[in-house]
Amino acid sequence: MCGVLDGATERGCRRWCGASTSQAVAFGYEVDSNWLTHFWIRLATLGRSVKAQVHTHPGEAFHSPVDDKWPIVSQAGFLSVVIPNLAMGPSSLDTAWIGRLRPDGTWVQVSSAAEAVLL
Ligand SMILES: [Zn+2]
Repeated sequence: MCGVLDGATERGCRRWCGASTSQAVAFGYEVDSNWLTHFWIRLATLGRSVKAQVHTHPGEAFHSPVDDKWPIVSQAGFLSVVIPNLAMGPSSLDTAWIGRLRPDGTWVQVSSAAEAVLL
């Protein structure tokens, strides 16, 4: 799991997220809860936050019921991006599923990455 940090560069994101420990489970992985706790503490200490989550699926990009139910942040406006084909395609968000969490806890798919960043 890799959170996008306010003002973080790609290198900064890798530094933050690369230290993650996780355990593979059927059809996904679980992020180590101790790592996640330290991640939240580091974010709070630095006054940063997670605005989006990004992950990939082996085939089509979509938001699964698990994705719907367990976002890393459950705050309205939070973004989720799912990259298709294990992110083995072109470096583009054109085929990604991009959604925004609504105040009622449901997700709405946005039409493009550009729409996602315009709040
Ligand atoms: Zn998913």
